[in-house]
Amino acid sequence: MPNQPKGIELRVLPEKGKAKGWGRRWKLRLTILVIVQVVMILHILIWWLGLPYGWETLSAVEPSESIQTVSDGIINAGAIFFAVALLSTAILGRWFCGWGCHLVLLQDWCLRLLSKVGVRPRAFRSRLLMLAPFLLAIYMFIWPIFYRLVVAPYTRPELTWNGFRVELLTRDLWATMPGVGVAVVFLFLCGFVTVYFLGAKGFCTYACPYGGFFMPLDKLALRRVHVDDNCQGCAYCTAVCTSNVRVHEQIVAYRKVIDAGCMRTSDCIEACPNDALSMQWGLPVLGAATHGDLDRPKKRWDLTWTGEITLAVIMFLSFLAWRGAYGLVPLLLSLGAASTVTWLCWKAWRIIVDANGSFHRWVLKKGGVLQGGGIVFLIAAAIGVLATVQAGATQLMAVQGNRMALGIRKRIEVPMQPGYSSLTSEERDRAEHAIRWYQWSGGMGSGGFAMATNPNTLLSMARIYAQLGQLAEASRLLEMVQTMSKPNEVVAIEQMMLQVSLSPPEQAPAIVEAVVQSEPQWARLRYAAVQLALRRGDLQAAGRIADGSAALQYQTLAMLQQGRVADAAPLLEQYVKEQPDDAMAWIMLAEVRLSQGDASGADAAAGAAVAARASLGVGAVEDFDTALQNYRAVRDRQDFP
Ligand code: SF4
Ligand code: SF4
Repeated sequence: MPNQPKGIELRVLPEKGKAKGWGRRWKLRLTILVIVQVVMILHILIWWLGLPYGWETLSAVEPSESIQTVSDGIINAGAIFFAVALLSTAILGRWFCGWGCHLVLLQDWCLRLLSKVGVRPRAFRSRLLMLAPFLLAIYMFIWPIFYRLVVAPYTRPELTWNGFRVELLTRDLWATMPGVGVAVVFLFLCGFVTVYFLGAKGFCTYACPYGGFFMPLDKLALRRVHVDDNCQGCAYCTAVCTSNVRVHEQIVAYRKVIDAGCMRTSDCIEACPNDALSMQWGLPVLGAATHGDLDRPKKRWDLTWTGEITLAVIMFLSFLAWRGAYGLVPLLLSLGAASTVTWLCWKAWRIIVDANGSFHRWVLKKGGVLQGGGIVFLIAAAIGVLATVQAGATQLMAVQGNRMALGIRKRIEVPMQPGYSSLTSEERDRAEHAIRWYQWSGGMGSGGFAMATNPNTLLSMARIYAQLGQLAEASRLLEMVQTMSKPNEVVAIEQMMLQVSLSPPEQAPAIVEAVVQSEPQWARLRYAAVQLALRRGDLQAAGRIADGSAALQYQTLAMLQQGRVADAAPLLEQYVKEQPDDAMAWIMLAEVRLSQGDASGADAAAGAAVAARASLGVGAVEDFDTALQNYRAVRDRQDFP
């Protein structure tokens, strides 16, 4: 018989004494985790207070922001933070999860609350579903690089890679974050629900993409929990571990904890009544051998391979159904929802096929007879499955709408003419079909089959109506989009274009300026508004709307247009100080100084213009040379004393 570590019953933790769990280490960890939350809240508060003034703050210190790095080369605060977390995990193990992650705080806090009411969640153990975080990590962080470097050159050659650039500050901290309502659902689902159904670290095990990278890196770590000869095999260490690590088996087999689920919380060290555990340095455990001739501890799984594959398919389909559903469900929430629905399916199936079944303290089935709790559970599971099917089906309808609207669903980037459509009759046909699919994918209150209307489909419909020349309807839908979702710069630009299209021309300047003033931090909106003013030839309005150097530029041009050279001169001087590479502005300054009789100042400005010529683009060089020639012709004609 091989020397398998002997299975032992887990201890029931005493109410008092050292091995109680939730001890000093937990309090210290809780304090640190709460401090992390306070710092995060302060960061958000500073950004929010600065909104009216257009202040910039540090970009979100959140690993998911690294997606911008791998897809667009933007190195932001989140990417640097994630890189540091990954590097430190490779040296110290998963300390960051245990001591820095807000979702671990949430899960541990939920576990604590549940344990106070006598509920001790049991870990659901599945081999295949545990791969979900790793696959998600590849999708989020590896796929975008592969796509840009390998796929895009063939499918989207216009997507060029312009290298990396650092962007640590932002004016729109919340740009990639969900709204408050979604955040509350997320915290409830990924906290209480996953802990209650899937176990103490349900979200980490089945849904956290960062864990997908942390787990393999943990194998390289040099610091982990070790055991000495004082161990009596009582298993209190396993009983207090909130990361589902079977500590007592690990230390018998390896003399240390090599399970990559260990988050270095040190709870087991504190709980051990014999002081047998300690955190120590050591070698990486990649391919670690067991101590002596012991076999590896046998992993316990809840599913057969058929069950694993079936649930993996259910989880994948549920993930697709919830991903982006109703324009609300973000990536991590969809995985949390998918893992919960998958577990519900599994448990419901067990209740149906087994003679007896229970969940926590509830008896669901006894001697082949469904109990009240079992009926309630099956109804709850059916509701979960139906909601998932509904979300998936309506998402498919929207996809069909998108297919129909191919080439029609264009952004509204310029003012349009009401009643005018440039679509062919075939495109009109497709546009009407697309609108019908979008309507079916909408909320039940508006003739659809979904639980709620997805603002993204409303946006698509608005763009199609705009292409059909129905601008009032397009504007109405965009207004709905703006009330349903968090402020969106692209939608604001499109709505501004429609408002200008639908209003008398004399009202356009006031509309545009009001829109820009309502969201002063949006640079693209401001730029679009400036372009509208320039289209009207209204340099004064462009000068009022633009900010920074651009405002100086347009104000100068407006004054020159009005012949107010003396007023324009100081603005232009200021502008070239801020933008010394603008060769055309230097030429303009040379002309202004010349007209004021300052020949030497004009020559100096012309010299600066020639020096800045190298920074001009190919098309602009020609214009510059013509302007320089004109200046020199005027200069040569002047007869200065
Ligand atoms: S390490 Fe301590 S708590 Fe764990 S089994 Fe050994 S004696 Fe018990
Ligand atoms: S094994 Fe010990 S240190 Fe690791 S997570 Fe569990 S209790 Fe914390």
